[in-house]
Amino acid sequence: MIYQKELVVENADVVVLGGGPAGFCAAIASARQGVDTLLIEKGSFCGGMATAGLVAPFMTCYDSGGNTMLIRGLFEEIVERLIAVGGALHPSKIEASSAFTSYITAGHIHVTPFKAEAMKLIADRMLKEAGVRVLYHTSFVDAEVENGTVSKLVLAKKEGLCAIKPKIVIDCTGDGDCAVAAGVPYTLGNGNGRIQPATMFFRIGGVDSAKVDADIEANRDNFYRKDGVNYRSMHWWVSKAKEAGDWSLNRVSIGLFRGVDEDEWSINTSRIMGIDGSLSQSLTEGEMIGREQVDEIFAFLKKYVPGCKNAKLLQSGSTLGIRETRHIHGMKTLVLDDLLNCNVPEDSVMIAANSVDVHGRFGPASNEYITIPENKYYGIPYGCLVAKGLSNLLMAGRCISAESEAAGAVRVMPPCMAMGQAAGTAAALCSESETDTRELDVKILREKLQEQGVLLYV
Ligand SMILES: Cc1cc2nc3c(=O)[nH]c(=O)nc-3n(C[C@H](O)[C@H](O)[C@H](O)COP(=O)(O)OP(=O)(O)OC[C@H]3O[C@@H](n4cnc5c(N)ncnc54)[C@H](O)[C@@H]3O)c2cc1C
Repeated sequence: MIYQKELVVENADVVVLGGGPAGFCAAIASARQGVDTLLIEKGSFCGGMATAGLVAPFMTCYDSGGNTMLIRGLFEEIVERLIAVGGALHPSKIEASSAFTSYITAGHIHVTPFKAEAMKLIADRMLKEAGVRVLYHTSFVDAEVENGTVSKLVLAKKEGLCAIKPKIVIDCTGDGDCAVAAGVPYTLGNGNGRIQPATMFFRIGGVDSAKVDADIEANRDNFYRKDGVNYRSMHWWVSKAKEAGDWSLNRVSIGLFRGVDEDEWSINTSRIMGIDGSLSQSLTEGEMIGREQVDEIFAFLKKYVPGCKNAKLLQSGSTLGIRETRHIHGMKTLVLDDLLNCNVPEDSVMIAANSVDVHGRFGPASNEYITIPENKYYGIPYGCLVAKGLSNLLMAGRCISAESEAAGAVRVMPPCMAMGQAAGTAAALCSESETDTRELDVKILREKLQEQGVLLYV
């Protein structure tokens, strides 16, 4: 039942939809430019996959040689704020092939372990300090378009439906909900029915981490290797469990990442195929399968993995981990070759070197993982953040305009935060100067981003 018979209409200059890594950074960046900014989040805190999804760690923010921290600006500030409250370890201290990287070498140097609870708190504090108007418990439900401009956003609040008249909108819902409602074309997964699988993350505590490390050391020669580097581990225990009838999942190894506290680990192992994260019914099925998988994996860890005998299940994600849904079509599209050729277009608004990481497209056990040439990086051009055919809609995060393979690289959290910072700054510039988002002078945007500590070249 809708309590309010008529939609209450409010105005806002910049409206950010979704408070995940991309969204809360977009909102902070916009408000710091002195522009009225409203952040809408359907949950009760910010962070998206980083908090509700329990996804950790922040993937690398360095080049693949581990020499230069490429993603700086707001991301770096957030890491420092987290460290100050004991909620993260600095990426410069994290080596590849260590417990913090699940013992993976390729593409995993200098990740950032962090605590989800600290992330919620720091996001709240930074939003408040920036002067963002935050609205939790509010879902975006529909958009109205007039003459190529998003003229109205319909939101479902606790007290009923309401409408916002925005100047500029940034879609950071992960799924591009607003862009789709506004009629922007999109590609679901790779466009041929293949979508990356979902995963239910969970955290365990009470682990004897020295014993886990010792088991890994004893089996270093046993590791899966790809391109000559250690890849995934613990398959020696998974095969034993399989033989004993204690493992029914279609997975051969375990992804376990040590957290900030010595005895706490995040488990990235469950795999749920065929879920379309843009549909409630499919999400519901995924959540239920995910929790069953967590139950099985946790029992396996306790029974087989040294150091986990007395482990406690702390929490499973309060939302299923969705790697991929819709890629919204923009003024430009990021493609795989852009990344592998290390293209840095003149209108880049961020740089990164995250590996292409596409799970399960060729069956549950498949993984496509391609690293970027050492000490090189690629740029994401502004046009990938600008929705096709509309004058006031930007995107940031998982739903930007990118082919499925390219999205498989830039979907990780540090690039999503950098995209958020770029989109938020762009939105503020467009709002202040009453400029069509497609016509923004990217030179001015790049200058602003550099003033904010964003690295655009090395
Ligand atoms: C299983 C898994 C493992 C991963 N591993 C890593 C890793 O190790 N390291 C790493 O850095 N990245 C990892 N990632 C990727 C990363 O977590 C996500 O791609 C990233 O969080 C995307 O950020 P986002 O802000 O675009 O979207 P999200 O984090 O999904 O945030 C979207 C936000 O929008 C809100 N929202 C959605 N729809 C609406 C609506 N209609 N109205 C209002 N609010 C809405 C949601 O509640 C959410 O808060 C992983 C992802 C998954 C799923």
